[in-house]
Amino acid sequence: MGRLVVVSNRVAEIDSRGEASKGGLAMALSAALREHHGLWFGWSGQASAAPGPANVRRNGGIDVATIDLTEDEIENYYNGFSNRTLWPLCHYRPDLVMHERAYGAAYAQVNEKFADALMPLLREDDTLWVHDYHLVPLARALRARGAQNRIGFFLHIPWPARQVLSTLPRHHQLVQAMFDYDLIGFQTQGWLDAFEDYVVEELKGSLDGAGSLTALDRTVRAGAYPIGLDMGEMRAMVASEAARRTCATMKAEDQQLLIGVDRIDYSKGLPQKFAAFEQFLEDEPQWREKVALLQIGQPSRTDVEAYQQLHDRLLSEAGRINGEFGTLAWAPLRYRAQSMPRDVLTGAYRAARAAIVTPLYDGMNLVAKEYVAAQDPDDPGVLILSRFAGAAAQMREALLVNPNSREDLADAIRRAVEMPRAERIARWKALYAGVARDDLTAWRQSFLHDLLGDRPVGGQDP
Ligand code: UDP
Repeated sequence: MGRLVVVSNRVAEIDSRGEASKGGLAMALSAALREHHGLWFGWSGQASAAPGPANVRRNGGIDVATIDLTEDEIENYYNGFSNRTLWPLCHYRPDLVMHERAYGAAYAQVNEKFADALMPLLREDDTLWVHDYHLVPLARALRARGAQNRIGFFLHIPWPARQVLSTLPRHHQLVQAMFDYDLIGFQTQGWLDAFEDYVVEELKGSLDGAGSLTALDRTVRAGAYPIGLDMGEMRAMVASEAARRTCATMKAEDQQLLIGVDRIDYSKGLPQKFAAFEQFLEDEPQWREKVALLQIGQPSRTDVEAYQQLHDRLLSEAGRINGEFGTLAWAPLRYRAQSMPRDVLTGAYRAARAAIVTPLYDGMNLVAKEYVAAQDPDDPGVLILSRFAGAAAQMREALLVNPNSREDLADAIRRAVEMPRAERIARWKALYAGVARDDLTAWRQSFLHDLLGDRPVGGQDP
């Protein structure tokens, strides 16, 4: 293969050795880019009144190219179509979707702009890997400019059911654009099934049973590639000074800790988690003062109203629950609306008797995997996991729950705090084996293997 070109909305910071400073995904992609002398292209994160061509720099063998966007583009493409339209739609919240023509127009325009800036940097034998919902129409824009390269697309978030997707004006146009890719990757078979259902029912297309979908005289391949952890990074974080210190401090407390780690996002089921914890305290008075829930809430998309409202709601719910059940010496729900470094988080995972991961929908959920990877094999904690997280398809030995049922989730919390050590070890061993096997390297290699496979760049030119 020639060079690998990764395209994503934002580009990670790359240091002089060609390594991404933080984030497992960024590290995995930068490792792939180093192997293939690649290029990473995306938005700089900066606004500029009159953005020029891409700014290209070389770091440790990787070329990084970024463009600026205008304030209008950031508002309508990023906050607008990406985060007020597509994000809620793909997370089954049509009630939160905002439909504004200006959003759709800016989304198309920024994808064209990405294509304009990227085209002059491309070589004939480059392979492109485009990431996530911000850039669905990018391959279409590149093909319109003559790009013949192999182009893969990976969707990190859920693909919604046809009935939900079709609430989007011009949904056909969005899906049609996906047929300009050579390979489309989803996190799970479930999201892939939903995509195939749309293609068959809405586009009257067909499946060949071997991963190819044909519709509108075009063929695209699609598969499920569940993303995983960088296990080397995880091991280093478990052994780090910050993790050890955090773990020791938390373990010294005279109570069992439950942990939640989420971006403050309405897809994460945070109010449901708080309500279930309250139910547990109500139902199990013997556990009061012996258990606390530490909820890390990482601030996210604070320019979008739905996120601001959720943050306010969580603060007031946590205050109410603490007011109701707390004592002078004990606060049952510690809600910290703050981002935490990942090594500190790793120590907190290890100290916690259970993790409560409750998304109402989630493409994968890496926190669930990180919790498992961080445990002490001799005394591991219990993973309580929403069946609606992509991770649930792989993590069958977790306590799988429906986060919409406050009472069922409260029962799972009780099971977790009462679970005998032997059962905790048996469940954890099975979970850990899966997390270690289906790691980030396996994900990247299987996607690139399929993208580069011998099959023709199927039917792109009618
Ligand atoms: N994370 C972090 N600091 C925080 C909270 C979360 O670094 O304060 C990390 C966490 O370790 C995980 C990622 O953010 O790697 C969240 O990934 P996940 O797939 O669970 O959810 P997403 O935020 O991508 O929807």
